[in-house]
This record gives sequence, structure tokens and C-alpha cells, in this order.
Amino acid sequence: MQLMAPQHPIYLDCQATTPLDPEVLDAMLPYFREQFGNPHVDAHVFGREAAAAVEIARSEVAQLINADPREIIFTSGATESNNLAIKGAARYRRDRHGLDHVVTVATEHKCVLESIARLEHEGFRATVLPVEPSGLVDLERVEAALEESTALVTVMAANNEIGTVQPLSEVGKLCRERNVVLHTDAAQAVGKIPFDVHALNVDLASLSAHKLYGPKGIGALYVRRRPRARIEPLFDGGGQERTLRSGTVPVPLVVGFGAATGIARRRLRKEAEHTKMLRDRMLTRLRVRHSDIVVHGAMKPRLPGNLSVGYAGLLAHRLVRELADVALSTGSACSDTSVENSYVLRALGVSESIASGSFRISPGRFTTESDIDRAAAAIADGVDALRASSTQD
Ligand SMILES: *Cc1c(COP(=O)(O)O)cnc(C)c1O
Repeated sequence: MQLMAPQHPIYLDCQATTPLDPEVLDAMLPYFREQFGNPHVDAHVFGREAAAAVEIARSEVAQLINADPREIIFTSGATESNNLAIKGAARYRRDRHGLDHVVTVATEHKCVLESIARLEHEGFRATVLPVEPSGLVDLERVEAALEESTALVTVMAANNEIGTVQPLSEVGKLCRERNVVLHTDAAQAVGKIPFDVHALNVDLASLSAHKLYGPKGIGALYVRRRPRARIEPLFDGGGQERTLRSGTVPVPLVVGFGAATGIARRRLRKEAEHTKMLRDRMLTRLRVRHSDIVVHGAMKPRLPGNLSVGYAGLLAHRLVRELADVALSTGSACSDTSVENSYVLRALGVSESIASGSFRISPGRFTTESDIDRAAAAIADGVDALRASSTQD
């Protein structure tokens, strides 16, 4: 492996995005240079070579989630995949079968919740399920939400803020029994924990390359063939990607995505052990300094590389801004005049005062134990300093 330049500040925000793996960059470079062909042009070797590279990448992506390559549709990322899956399946099933109801969960990513809101404007009815304090959805509530007219259920595989892993396989069974399409936003899960579209009973799944050490601006939607999940496209055009996503496929990005998924598949277990060890080490070190630290969501089942913590009497947005040597994030939304606490933490029932003092720590492939030790000391010192200054205010 190539040596990475020391990172300053220490990067612990791998759930926002991951650095590009140097091997992935190497795989992409020829497709920015001499291999520039349009993969949809069959008339000459430039196009045919580009198309061959796209198909190799498609197979790599498919293999990581135990899908058939024909079930992989390349998109610009998980935001687009979520929009395509949710609006595409709901509209198809409304137009063909008169179904007008959709189900989701309060802790989903904004792009899922906003897609559902768009469908409501179009006349769909939506059920937004609450979560337990663990962050998990209750299966009985899912079952009770399913109606004769339910077109689609969308439940994320793993949460981007608190890392909790939903019981997808069980949700999938409930949906399959009732002929309801199940979509999952798997941007955080794929490449981090085993994710098998058959074991999980999902019909549609959204993936993003930049969450697994690939490039930004590329992702995929898994679309099941048997039984076939049918969706309406969002774009009209040349009919690329089995008519579901018109537009020229960005070959260098697709090649990078393929390389990144190949690496993720080969290293999955080792890397999960590595990030879990770092995460647990961080929590132990923070707890030694502040025994009142609160961990949000169940520790199990949870992504190995996620820690979501809160402190009473702390303004976390100030902490993350003032920590010059550590890159972390809060789930809060800041505007010029106010800070709105995370809707995910609110859905868990976390009090506003703890939510204000909450942030996410996500180590990854290139994080070391010494990064964790230095970052833990800096975070704990920062908590002390901010608590002291707020009591003086
Ligand atoms: C990052 C992320 C997205 C958005 O993915 P993009 O590829 O950046 O559009 C959607 N959902 C989840 C859970 C994510 O973590």
C-alpha cells in the first residue's frame, strides 16, 4: 500500500465522505487520458474499450451486493438513486396499479424524506414511522403501516448519523408477503458491513462511491430482476442504463467505483475489525475523561466506524469549529442566525440540550490508533474548555 501523507487535521468524518483510495485513483487515470471514448458508441475501438471498462465495473459493483450485473444502474450518487427509486417506483405503481401510499422512517436521509414530501405534493399519502430510542424501527409498526394501497416502503440500511443498522431482512419479508416494493438507502452500509440483496429481501438499493473510498459524483441503483422491480425513469433521453438513466455514463468515475467496490469486498472483514477497534478505543478514551458522555443509538447492530455522542452543557457546533486538529461533524443544520439540532437525534427522543452537545466521530480505512489517541485528547480538552467558558458566560 502507498503511504498516505499525514493528514492535518485528523480526519474523523468518513460518514460525510471518504478520501479516495490511491489504488482507485490509479485505476481511473487512464480513463481521463487516452481511454476517453464514449461507451455508448459501438462503431470504433475507443467506444468499445470504454464500454468494456464500464461492464467490468458493473460486475464488481454487483458482486459486492450479490446482485446480477444487469441489475446495476449507474447514477450520479445515492441522492439521485434515492430519487429515482422512490419517485420511480411510486409513480409506476400509481399509474399501473392505482397504489397511492408510501412508508418511510423519521431518521432517513434528507433526500429520502424530501422525495417522499414531493410524492405527497403529487397526492400520495405517506406514513413516516418513528424509531425506538435505539434508533431502530419497530417491526410491528412497519407491519401495521402496510395497507392494500401501499406502493413502496423505504428504510435505510444504516444511518449516516448514528450508524444504527435497521432490521431490513425482516422488513423485506413483510413487504414481499404483501407484494410491496422495498427500497433501501444503502449508502452507508455497502462496503462496511455484509450487504446481500437476496438475504435482505430488498427490491431497490441505493449506493454511493464516495462513501467507500471511491470518487464523488457516481453511485448506483440496484433494481431487482426477479421478481422484477419496475420503476419510471426521472430523465428522458438516449435511453442508457436500460432506459432507466439517460445520459452518457461517466467512464472514469464508473471505473473508480468498480475499483473501490473490489477493494471493499476483499477487505470487508478486516476493515470492519479495524474501524470497530478504533471506534471502541475512541469511546474508551473519551469516557475516561468524561464519564457523563452519552452514546446515541444502540451499539449493536451498528456500523463499525460510527460513534455518535453527546455531552450536557456543550455547544457541539462550537466544539467542531474550534477543534483545529480534528475534523468531525454535528448533525445539526446551521443557518446564519441559528443552529437547528439534528432531526435524527430528536427522533430518538434525545433532549434538545444533549442534542446541542452532540457530534459524530467516524474513523475509516486510513485512520490509525495514534490518530485516535491524539484526537480523543483534543476532543476531551475541547469539551473541558467549552464547558468552562459557557459557565463564565
Ligand atoms: C451520503 C449519503 C447520501 C447521499 O449520497 P450522494 O452520493 O452524496 O448523493 C444519501 N444517503 C445516505 C445515507 C448517505 O450517507
